[in-house]
Amino acid sequence: MLFDGHSDVVYALNRERQRGGQDVFRRRYLQPFRQGQVEGGIFVLWSNPEVHIPASVQIQQQMQTLHAELEQAGDVLMMLRSPEDIRLATNRNSIYFLLGVEGLDGCVQSETVIDWLYEQGVRHVGLTWNEANGFAGGVYADGGLTEPGRKAVQRIQQKNMLLDVSHLNDRSLRDVLLLADGPIIASHSNSRRLCDVPRNLTDEQIRAIAETDGVIGINSHPPFLYACEEKQDLQHLADHVIHIAELAGTEHVGFGLDLNYWEEDADAAGLPELKHYGQTQQFLALLKQRGFAEKELQQICRDNFLRLVKRSLA
Ligand SMILES: [Zn+2]
Repeated sequence: MLFDGHSDVVYALNRERQRGGQDVFRRRYLQPFRQGQVEGGIFVLWSNPEVHIPASVQIQQQMQTLHAELEQAGDVLMMLRSPEDIRLATNRNSIYFLLGVEGLDGCVQSETVIDWLYEQGVRHVGLTWNEANGFAGGVYADGGLTEPGRKAVQRIQQKNMLLDVSHLNDRSLRDVLLLADGPIIASHSNSRRLCDVPRNLTDEQIRAIAETDGVIGINSHPPFLYACEEKQDLQHLADHVIHIAELAGTEHVGFGLDLNYWEEDADAAGLPELKHYGQTQQFLALLKQRGFAEKELQQICRDNFLRLVKRSLA
């Protein structure tokens, strides 16, 4: 079974519901989860800066969407609220998710927002997307953690929520690592040594995240795999798994696949061999060929992230 540390499915659910769609998860997205034996994931709320709707409204709409979908698809979809819910969901054969936010742009720019998010059931927080905001700098912006950012990090960790650094710039990530006193994740980032883009992590950052007992989720987004397009394929995705596992240990690697098939032009996006969850089993077979033992694959596919997910729900 597989757990995806980063899924944008909520964005797609919301887009379809805004157009009048109903029971969208079941109708459109359930089958690939089943086909790929994906039992759950971190589902994030994300405000798209290119859409002319205020970020706060986008986040609220997405929350409403999730609750409406949960009402219609409660037999196949479940939001995690306690560690026992994982067993409950798997017994019922429901897809489960930890609710997260990818960037706090749509939120009050003060650490008090963390308490509000927690009350809404959110257990995963990325401070920024690619831009800078009142908390930190994203990969395409300058600046480190701000004072509210520092307080937010402390608040997140006090509450055992999952702190996700995937979109932070180097300075903000360094500031977070200096403050951290619990596990940190980079839910969907690869190795910068193998593919030098700011969204990927240096060897030093990978080791530092592992030292917090964190997890780095491998991202299948083609531009994060290799500089030239011809080599953006499953073999080069496997290279990132191997490199990060060698640096950090297999207990600190996961999948944060960041699939693109939710996008409207899904054919244009994503790895051809890994467009949707239904194709994940081929990638696992490749990892086996490349030398991973069954037990190590189980850790990478599921158990490592689940260790931290359970901790965030306790
Ligand atoms: Zn992202």
